[in-house]
Amino acid sequence: MHEQSDIKTQCKTISIALCGNPNSGKTSLFNELTGSHQHVGNWPGVTVEKKKGTVCHEDYAIEVVDLPGTYSLTAFSLEEIITRNYILEEKPDIIINVVDATNMERNLYLTTQLIEMGVKAIVTLNVYDEAKKKGISTDIPLLSDLLGMPVIPTVANRGEGIRDLLNCVLEVNNVTSARARPVQIHYKSDVEQEIDRLQAAIKKNPALNGSVSKRWIAIKLLEQDGQALEKLLSDSAEWKDIEKQAEKSCRQIEDLLGDDSETFIADGRYGFIRGVMQDVCRIKKPARIRKSELIDRVLTNRILGFPIFFLILWTMFYSTFSLGQYPMDILEVMVGHLSDWLTMAMPRGLFSDLVINGIVAGAGSVIVFLPTILILFFFISLIEDTGYMARAAFMMDRIMHLAGLHGKSFIPLIMGFGCNAPAIMATRVLENKSDRLITILINPLMSCSARLPIYVLIAGSCFGNQAGNVIFSIYILGILLAIIIGRIFRKTLFKAESAPFVLELPPYRIPTFKSLLLHMWSRGSIFLGKVGGVIMIASVIIWALSSFPRAPGTEEQAAGINASFQHRFNALQSSAINSADRTEETARLKAELEMQLEALEKTSDRMHMENSYLGRLGKVIEPVVNPLGFGWREGVALISGFSAKEIVISTLGISYGAGSESQLGSILARELSPLAAYSFLVFTLMYIPCLGTLVVIYRELESLRWTVFAMFYTLSLAWVLSFIIFQGGRLLGLE
Ligand code: GDP
Ligand code: MG
Repeated sequence: MHEQSDIKTQCKTISIALCGNPNSGKTSLFNELTGSHQHVGNWPGVTVEKKKGTVCHEDYAIEVVDLPGTYSLTAFSLEEIITRNYILEEKPDIIINVVDATNMERNLYLTTQLIEMGVKAIVTLNVYDEAKKKGISTDIPLLSDLLGMPVIPTVANRGEGIRDLLNCVLEVNNVTSARARPVQIHYKSDVEQEIDRLQAAIKKNPALNGSVSKRWIAIKLLEQDGQALEKLLSDSAEWKDIEKQAEKSCRQIEDLLGDDSETFIADGRYGFIRGVMQDVCRIKKPARIRKSELIDRVLTNRILGFPIFFLILWTMFYSTFSLGQYPMDILEVMVGHLSDWLTMAMPRGLFSDLVINGIVAGAGSVIVFLPTILILFFFISLIEDTGYMARAAFMMDRIMHLAGLHGKSFIPLIMGFGCNAPAIMATRVLENKSDRLITILINPLMSCSARLPIYVLIAGSCFGNQAGNVIFSIYILGILLAIIIGRIFRKTLFKAESAPFVLELPPYRIPTFKSLLLHMWSRGSIFLGKVGGVIMIASVIIWALSSFPRAPGTEEQAAGINASFQHRFNALQSSAINSADRTEETARLKAELEMQLEALEKTSDRMHMENSYLGRLGKVIEPVVNPLGFGWREGVALISGFSAKEIVISTLGISYGAGSESQLGSILARELSPLAAYSFLVFTLMYIPCLGTLVVIYRELESLRWTVFAMFYTLSLAWVLSFIIFQGGRLLGLE
């Protein structure tokens, strides 16, 4: 204290106040300026910190106050009021406006108000180091010209630019006029007219002829910021006139322009800032970023963005289907050979039946889809690794709002196309709990890759060359339903607003081949693991359910046929025909025997299937699935798909007794009309998420109630939708 009063008595004093946005570096600057000559207290009556200090420069003692951080000088917060009142009442000689150079556009909003107040001010362009690092280059002399005040670049936390700032303070202090060049922010002409009227009214009031700019008072009146003026106003008769004029002006603007005057004042300021930025700032971006922006101009274009996005999705699913067909055919032939070879090599019996019709038919019918799945994951990692996924999320933001969600939910949703389980885990990026719940609940509607084989099989066999489009339509249907249902959930179950967020848009990158292969492989191996594990086991269980109880009487019938043929052989043996004829006749009899046995096997197989546990289960659910257009085998297949959706195919294969995928395809083409097939596809799309997904939902939400809810709402939706499609289609004669 003693030291300070010494300084004061020795030198002339200048008072300065630091104002600026929070985190612009005011306190850092204050500390650099004042060093140890500072003390901390509170602003009178409130617990907002007040820092004061002194710095000696040449023969001046400069008193510095660190004002609270604010974005504006209206009366919305305590900080704003403290800052404004300090400027108006204490009238510091110079205001130092600390502007964060990395965030100029937002920071300058406060500057525009200082310009209007007509106070002596200096802008310090702080965080200048970071700005340079980011490639932002600022034309400082031009900026100074446009703002009508000196601009000094500083790096407050390292003390750079402090001397320049102090010199500038002395210079500004010596100028008598407030401004080297008076600057005005121009508003819409209708607003300007009212400002003029108000200024004229203010001029008549002697009490307001102080140091504060009349234009500023006029603008404050149009902003309807009464509190700003309270301090300046006497309740003189003239003031009443001014108030009346202000009311009239506000009304006039609102009538004329259709929005309140405050809005136009803010618009004017932002317009000014935009103009300044355009002239003053050059952002030198790295070539990579510039290229990204060029690409974005096309890919996220207002008009082209969506068509391109859907084209990409369509290409992805279509080529997954059509490219996958070739390796699939090869694999299928291989599975067929294996099955043939086993039939030859193994003695006929229950065991060979288990191996051939259970394991090989079951797992084999699923494994042929490995290439398709690899290709799908190739595309998914391609759009993720290139950075397109983030753009898609960005574009989808508007659409996601229809679902009561926002773009950030889109990434977990699109990941659901791969597999719902990790996609549900990916919802952890959503901060808001209800956003997260909705995203999890609608995630199973994103058609996962396990359902793809079913689509490929059914669409491929029932829709011919339209298969690709049919599959695409199922995916789109899933997306549409997700949006609709998300919206319903938002409106009914979770009424909370979704939180605002920032979606990062990293620059585009060409992904490395290695990472694509790795992603493909990691998914591929999960698929293979499933084939070897749960699908194999399920195939055996389904086979057992379809094989037992053994149909009665088949053996006796076969024995009967054999016996009767034996009888005819014997008769032939003892007859008197010549040996050549006999050989011919024996061959004919043998062929007939084979045919009869085969026919017996076929009928008994069918009887047997219907009589088996699987068949009985099918009969129970038949009335439930019949109105949807498909039979008990499909129903049973869907039930078995609960453990993993791929199993739907193997169950169909086993229950139709099809030896190979193509055989199953031709059976299905015969059994299911296109309408029924489509209804089946829709059911497959919608119904209960698989066991693994349910477990993840339970783990993520820690709620049995929501898990059960997820299961039942999808199941009921599946039934209702398939019902509408099949019955509706029939009414329209589409069957
Ligand atoms: P205030 O809220 O305006 O008082 O800001 P502070 O002075 O507390 O600064 C906020 C943060 O920005 C602190 O971590 C400072 O170290 C940092 N900072 C301040 N000035 C600069 C600068 O010029 N360059 C950089 N890189 N960081 C700064
Ligand atoms: Mg501070």
